[in-house]
Amino acid sequence: MDGWRLTEEQVRAWLAALVADGRRAVAPVEVDRLLLFREVGSAGEIRLDPHGRTRWSAKEFLLPATETLFSYRYDGERVAIDTPSPPPEQILIGLRPCDAAGTARLDDQLAGDELYARRRERTVIVSVACASAGPACFCTAVGGSPAGTEGSDLQLIPLDGGWLLRPLTDRGVALTAGDRAGWAVAAEQDWAMAEGQLRAVEDAIGAEPVPPETAAALAGRFEADSWQVLAERCLGCGLCAYVCPSCGCFDVTDDGDVFCGTRCRSWDSCGLARFTKHAAGHNPRPGQPARYRQRILHKLAWFPLEHGSFMCVGCGRCTELCPVGLDIRQSLALALDQVADAPTGQQPEQAPGQPPGQERKAAISS
Ligand code: SF4
Ligand code: SF4
Repeated sequence: MDGWRLTEEQVRAWLAALVADGRRAVAPVEVDRLLLFREVGSAGEIRLDPHGRTRWSAKEFLLPATETLFSYRYDGERVAIDTPSPPPEQILIGLRPCDAAGTARLDDQLAGDELYARRRERTVIVSVACASAGPACFCTAVGGSPAGTEGSDLQLIPLDGGWLLRPLTDRGVALTAGDRAGWAVAAEQDWAMAEGQLRAVEDAIGAEPVPPETAAALAGRFEADSWQVLAERCLGCGLCAYVCPSCGCFDVTDDGDVFCGTRCRSWDSCGLARFTKHAAGHNPRPGQPARYRQRILHKLAWFPLEHGSFMCVGCGRCTELCPVGLDIRQSLALALDQVADAPTGQQPEQAPGQPPGQERKAAISS
C-alpha cells in the first residue's frame, strides 16, 4: 500500500498548509466540551481525536440545513431572478469513515441535484480512521469499517503516537503536493500494525454484517404489527434524520409576496407529521407507525434494493441522541421478529455497568 508515516508535527504542519491554501477548511473543533464541525482559521483549532466522534456529521457543509435556491424581484415590468453564488472550494477534514461513507450515500441520492453536485465537486475529504469504537457504533454491520475508505480522498490512520497518511484519489494526492519533502514512506510493518489495530476496533464493535438478503426480508414485513409497537415510542421529532450523515430529504418553501421573495430548501424528515401532507390536507402516512416504518424501510430495505448498500452507515448518532432511546439496530431486529417485542413506552433494559447501547448491539448482531 502507498502512503507516508508522519509524526504529529508533520501532520500539524500539513494541516496548517491546508488551512492556509485559500479554500474553506472545515474540521472538528471543541465547543462546550462537544466536538463539532466548524470552519477553521488555523490548524491549532483542529481536534483530530481518533477516539471521539463529532456530535453531528459534516452533512451541513454539503447539504446546508437551509439554503436559498433563488430569489425574485418584480419591478412592475419584469421579474429578476437571482441565483446563489457558486459554493466555495472546501476541504472537509477529520470525518470518521462512517461519515465519509454517509457522503457517498448522499451522492447516491442527490447526484442529479445541481446545487449539491456543485458543492460536492468542489469538496475534498480527509477522513481519520478510528482507534476505538463508541458503544453505539456498528459500521461493520452495514458494510463499513473503522478504516473504511468510501467517500474519502485521503485518510489519516493514527498509529503509535504518529500517523499514516494514505491517498485514495487523485484529488487526495494533489492535497499532498508541495508538502512531501521529508515525509517517510510507510513500511510494510506500519501497514501491518495498522491492520492489527483495525481488527481490534472491529472486535470491540462486535457487530456481524447484516446479510444483504435482509433488505428483501424487511420489505416483506411492510404489514408487520411491530411497526405499531416501535412507533408508539417515537415522538416524531425528526432528530434522528437531522443528525444522520446519510439522510438527504428536504422540503422547499416560498417566502415572499407578488413583488419579491425567496425560495428556500431545508432539511426535512419522514418522521415528521407534515412530511407527506398534501396541500389538500390528505396525508398518506397519517400516523407515526407509517412514518417510522418509512424511515427504517427506506434505509434498510428500499435503498439497498435499489443501490446495493444500506442507507445507514452505522454511526450510532440516532441511537445516542433519540430522546426516547429508539435504536435502529433493535428496530431492525424487532421488525424482523428476531427479538421479543420491547415493552411499549419503555427503553430496552440496560445491564448494570454496561455502557449505553451495548445490549442493543447484541440485538442486531444476533
Ligand atoms: S429521534 Fe427518536 S423520537 Fe425522534 S423521530 Fe427519531 S426515532 Fe422518533
Ligand atoms: S440511521 Fe442512525 S446509525 Fe445509521 S447512519 Fe443515520 S444516524 Fe447513523
